[in-house]
Amino acid sequence: MARFQYRGGDMDTARYEEKKRSLTEVLRSAGGGNIRLGKTTSNLFRDRQGTSAKELDVRDFNNVLHVDAANGYVVAEGMTPYAKLVAECLRHNVMPAVVPQLKSITIGGATVGCGIESSSFRYGMVHETVQEMEILLSDGRTVLCTPDNEYRDLFYGFPNSYGTLGYALLLKARVVPVKKYVKLTHIRHADPKVFFTGLAQQCERQDVDFVDGVVFGRHDMVITLGQFTHEAPYASDYTYEKIYYKSLRERSEDFLTTGDYLWRWDTDWFWCSKNLLAQNPLIRRLYGRRHLNSVTYTKIMHWNSRWKLSRSIGRLLGFHTESVIQDVEIPLEHAPEFLAFYHDVIRFMPVWICPTRACDKQARFDLYRMDPQKLYVNFGFWDVIRGRKKLSPGHYNRQVEERVMALHGMKSLYSDSYFSPEQFWGIYNRSVYDRLKKKYDPEGILKDLYRKCVLKE
Ligand SMILES: Cc1cc2nc3c(=O)[nH]c(=O)nc-3n(C[C@H](O)[C@H](O)[C@H](O)COP(=O)(O)OP(=O)(O)OC[C@H]3O[C@@H](n4cnc5c(N)ncnc54)[C@H](O)[C@@H]3O)c2cc1C
Repeated sequence: MARFQYRGGDMDTARYEEKKRSLTEVLRSAGGGNIRLGKTTSNLFRDRQGTSAKELDVRDFNNVLHVDAANGYVVAEGMTPYAKLVAECLRHNVMPAVVPQLKSITIGGATVGCGIESSSFRYGMVHETVQEMEILLSDGRTVLCTPDNEYRDLFYGFPNSYGTLGYALLLKARVVPVKKYVKLTHIRHADPKVFFTGLAQQCERQDVDFVDGVVFGRHDMVITLGQFTHEAPYASDYTYEKIYYKSLRERSEDFLTTGDYLWRWDTDWFWCSKNLLAQNPLIRRLYGRRHLNSVTYTKIMHWNSRWKLSRSIGRLLGFHTESVIQDVEIPLEHAPEFLAFYHDVIRFMPVWICPTRACDKQARFDLYRMDPQKLYVNFGFWDVIRGRKKLSPGHYNRQVEERVMALHGMKSLYSDSYFSPEQFWGIYNRSVYDRLKKKYDPEGILKDLYRKCVLKE
């Protein structure tokens, strides 16, 4: 059987093979019943119905096996969180080409969930940086998928499959060199059209390593450029008392260590920590530096969601609520129109902006089809809309979906979706999905993508 070509430590490789063997035995002994991943963390934001599926314990698959800085790749197990992956890579003066902003996101999760960050304007989304994957299939077999071997259909069909075709146990992904610091330049804009044109122009620059932005209001937007540098006059610290997103409007230049740059959004979960009172100076102290991070907030939110705490309080006060937690990609030419719709309908601020485009113009990822010739703008918005009036379920999320479809965009599936089966399969490619499902999970042991992502089964 084909094997990963890399020079990992013998111990690590042997341990990986051993763990893989026991996992496949567990799977085979499950006798064809439904299975699901057993993990301690998750960045999925759709409540799932109770399930009797057997849990496949993959918590141990969280090691970095090899960093090859000279040849530009890292080999890591599928459930390795980016916190660990980045720490290991930085020791070799490289970073994964795209590092999602939250420390507990895993390399496998980001590959099936289409992760994105401020280096995506150059390298594309996380799955575009993956070079090989060893995937565990529902019958207990493992297959090594590359862009040009006999399993290339699975390689290109895996992104956006959310664990419904198999589980990535080992991945080889691109890394790029880093310097010690990142110099930040914050450019403020008042006109959306000029803002998006400026964003596109910055993406053409060769001397810029990172590009993202934030919309704070109709006439208040910031583009942030990041450039690696060996030296810095100072390095700011946003991991405790100072809050990164607030700095964007307060200064035009800043310096961070590369590690702090990569995790700049994690400390305050972008800005969502405000909903957990973590931006109140007193309560911030109570959290303490150690607990100001996405892992803490995710735990609190999952607990809140399980016990329906804030929803019940809202109801008692006479409010109806809807979570609108979405990331969508809109072609650049339609970005101003989407933003105008956003200001009129969804309204809550801020909104994260991140440009992305295909790195390899020939590559086609079947379940997440974007035009490889186009620059897209990712809009990330995460909050709850409260109102006195009872609206139909998904009132706001459905409007986002309609607008994304009308503007030829794409919507991530990590949170709530309301698409009809026809709409969903028109976007996410039913014919290819059915073919892959028939070939790699013919017994339907893993869930179907629509049932998992829309019906929340
Ligand atoms: C508020 C919020 C903001 C976000 N912002 C960003 C962002 O800015 N940038 C970004 O890149 N992403 C962002 N995400 C999305 C995130 O990257 C995806 O949800 C990703 O899939 C989470 O990865 P995870 O490792 O936590 O996986 P989990 O949450 O544990 O799992 C997600 C799904 O992937 C499947 N899965 C997990 N691991 C594997 C594997 N090894 N093989 C196959 N299937 C697997 C699971 O079955 C599940 O269906 C955001 C999510 C939230 C909730």
